[in-house]
Amino acid sequence: MLEQGEFADYTESFPTPRVTQDALPYWAAVKEGRLLFQRCPACRGAIFPPRSICPMCEAGATPAWEESKGAGSIYSFSVVHRPPSAVWRAHAPYTIGLVRLNEDWFLFTEIEGRPEDMAVDKRVQVAFPEREVALPVFRLVGEDAPR
Ligand SMILES: [Zn+2]
Repeated sequence: MLEQGEFADYTESFPTPRVTQDALPYWAAVKEGRLLFQRCPACRGAIFPPRSICPMCEAGATPAWEESKGAGSIYSFSVVHRPPSAVWRAHAPYTIGLVRLNEDWFLFTEIEGRPEDMAVDKRVQVAFPEREVALPVFRLVGEDAPR
């Protein structure tokens, strides 16, 4: 994992997260296979990506961390057939998109499964596959295991 403020070179390897100070608890939880988001104690709005102050209200409250159940649905998606760099070529075709979590926040993520099975509003569940870089991905609920 990169140190705070470092940029990844993803032409030679899979990209690693650029970790911000506000997101340190998020990435520590990902390493443990847990998905965190924040909620404002004043307006109760769900917050992601992590912030030090709620962006939705004037209370100036410090957001509190909550653990997500990792359940949601596909809000939008795109199947990638022509990857941006060599390291992704063996992985293609793959799907990326926005997942809307049940707690009412969004995560831009990879969605595992057959491209032809992808559809807006399909139910997905978070997973933390063993990979070079620890990242949450989502899998279609009730579908066969990923390729
Ligand atoms: Zn708020």
